[in-house]
Amino acid sequence: MGKPTGFLEFARELPKKRDPQQRIHDYREIEVQFAPQDTQRQAARCMDCGTPFCHSGCPLGNIIPEFNDAVYEQNWAYAYEILASTNNFPEFTGRICPAPCEASCVLGINKPPVAIEFIEKSIAEEAFKQGYVTPRIPTERTGKQIAIVGSGPAGLAAAAQLNKAGHTVTVFERADQIGGLLRYGIPDFKLEKWTIDRRLAIMEAEGIIFKPGVNVGKDLKANDLLNDFDAIMLTGGSTVPRDLPIPGRELKGIYPAMQFLSQQNKRNAERPVEVDHQGETYTDGDILATGKNVVVIGGGDTGSDCVGTSNRHEAASVTQIELMPMPPQERAESTPWPNWPMMLRTSTSHEEGCERQWSINTKEFIGDENGNLKALRLVDLTWENKNGRMQMVELPGSERDVPCELALLAAGFLHPQHNGLLDDLGVDYDERGNVKAVKYQTTTNPKVFVAGDMRRGQSLVVWAISEGREAARAADCYLMGETMLEAKAVSMISVE
Ligand SMILES: Cc1cc2nc3c(=O)[nH]c(=O)nc-3n(C[C@H](O)[C@H](O)[C@H](O)COP(=O)(O)OP(=O)(O)OC[C@H]3O[C@@H](n4cnc5c(N)ncnc54)[C@H](O)[C@@H]3O)c2cc1C
Ligand code: SF4
Repeated sequence: MGKPTGFLEFARELPKKRDPQQRIHDYREIEVQFAPQDTQRQAARCMDCGTPFCHSGCPLGNIIPEFNDAVYEQNWAYAYEILASTNNFPEFTGRICPAPCEASCVLGINKPPVAIEFIEKSIAEEAFKQGYVTPRIPTERTGKQIAIVGSGPAGLAAAAQLNKAGHTVTVFERADQIGGLLRYGIPDFKLEKWTIDRRLAIMEAEGIIFKPGVNVGKDLKANDLLNDFDAIMLTGGSTVPRDLPIPGRELKGIYPAMQFLSQQNKRNAERPVEVDHQGETYTDGDILATGKNVVVIGGGDTGSDCVGTSNRHEAASVTQIELMPMPPQERAESTPWPNWPMMLRTSTSHEEGCERQWSINTKEFIGDENGNLKALRLVDLTWENKNGRMQMVELPGSERDVPCELALLAAGFLHPQHNGLLDDLGVDYDERGNVKAVKYQTTTNPKVFVAGDMRRGQSLVVWAISEGREAARAADCYLMGETMLEAKAVSMISVE
C-alpha cells in the first residue's frame, strides 16, 4: 500500500473539462491533460482495504489496488503490466467506461471513491508515451486459422488473445474502418479515433490480419467461412434498433440515433457518409441538426450522445425525452453499495445544453404538406403500481404538440441482424433474439463461437472486452484441448 493516510489527506479530483461553450465547436475530447503527479495523488487515496470490492465491480476483474500502488510508486511500467494482464484496451475503458468499479469502491461507502477510471487512463497514456506498449509477437504459431466477424471491442479483444495463443487471426469488418461502435457510434468527443489507430498498429505488428469492407454473409459466404477456418468467432454486435411505429413514422426527419451518430464519425474522419454503419447504401444524404428543433427520444447514453452531437451541429433547441420517471438524485435504496446505483446521471453532453423531460410518451409524428416532420404529439404519464407491476397511465389533458424538425430514436437495440450470416450459419437464438451459446460456443456448431453484444445484447465496452477474452479462452480450448490464456477473476456485480 502506497500511502496509508492518502485517503485522509487528498480529495478526489478529476481532470478539468474544457468549457462547454468552447468545446461545442469541435469534436475533440473534453478532458484537459493531467500531470502524472496528480494521478499519483489520486492513487494514494486507495486504502488497500483488504477486501477490494472494486475487483468484482469491474467486469474484467481489473486488479485495481495493485496498479494503484504501482502508480503511487510512479512505476508506470509495472502498473501497465498489471492492467494489461486483465484488460487489452485500457485506453478505451479509461475514457468511456461508466466505471462500475468506482460504485463498489470501499472508500465510496462514506467518502468519494477512488478515481479508478481516470487512473486507468493515465496508466495507459503514460505507458504509450514511455514506450511500454510494444508488439508482442508469439514465438510459435499453431497453424490454426481463426476468422473473427466484427471488429468492435469484443472482436478486437478476442483477436488479441487468440493471436497471443499463436493462432493466425483474420478480423473481418463490413464497415470501411476497423473498430465497431468505438469507431462508428461513440462520438469523437468521448473517444478520439487516433486511440483506435494507435492500438491497431500494435495489433497488426503482432500479426493480426484486418480486412475492413467485407460484409460476411454477402461478400464472403457462410459456407466458405466454415470451410476455410478452423474456428469462427461471431462478434457482430447488436445492430437492429428499436423502432417507434406510431402514426407519421414515414415522415422525413425521423432517424435511428446510430445513423445520425455514425454519419458524424464519418464526417470527422473525412469518409463518405453514403454507406451506413450496417454496410447498407444510404439514400437520405446528410442528417444535420443545424437550425432545427431536435427531440431525442430515449433518455439513455446513446440519446445523450445525440444531444452532444446536435449541439455541435448548432441545433435551434435540443430536448431529450424519456418514458420512465426521473431517477433519484442520490443512490436509490433498491441499489445499495456495492451495487451499481440507480440514480440520475448528467453527462458532459447534458452540461452543454439540453432540456430533459421524464414520464413522457410520443403519440404521433406530425408532418407538413411536403412530408417533412414539423412536430411531435407528446403526452405526460404517471406510473401506477398495478398488482406489483408498474404501468404507465396517460395524464388527461396533457397532450400537446411541440415543434420538431429532427427526431432521433434512441430507444436501444433489439438484437443482432438475423438475416444473412447468422441465418445462413443456422445458429439458434435465445428468447431475446441474441445468438444462443453455452460458454460462448454456439449450440449449433462447435467451431462457431460468439461474444459481445451479439451474445449478451446491448451492453458496454468493458463487457465486450471481457466477453472477447473469455470466448477466446473457450475457442483456444476447443482447438488445442487446453488454454494458457488468463482466466478472469469472478465478477459478481452487473451493470449494463
Ligand atoms: C452511440 C453509442 C454510444 C455508446 N457509448 C458507450 C460508452 O460510452 N461506454 C460504453 O462502455 N459503452 C458504450 N456503448 C456500448 C458499446 O459501444 C457496445 O456495447 C460495444 O461496442 C459492443 O461491442 P461489440 O464488439 O460486441 O460490438 P460492436 O462494437 O457493435 O461491433 C460489431 C461490429 O461488427 C460488424 N459486423 C456486424 N455484422 C457483420 C458482418 N456480417 N460482416 C462483417 N462485419 C460485421 C459491425 O459493422 C460492427 O462494426 C455505446 C453504444 C452506442 C450505440
Ligand atoms: S474497466 Fe471500467 S470497471 Fe474496470 S477498472 Fe476500468 S473503469 Fe473500472
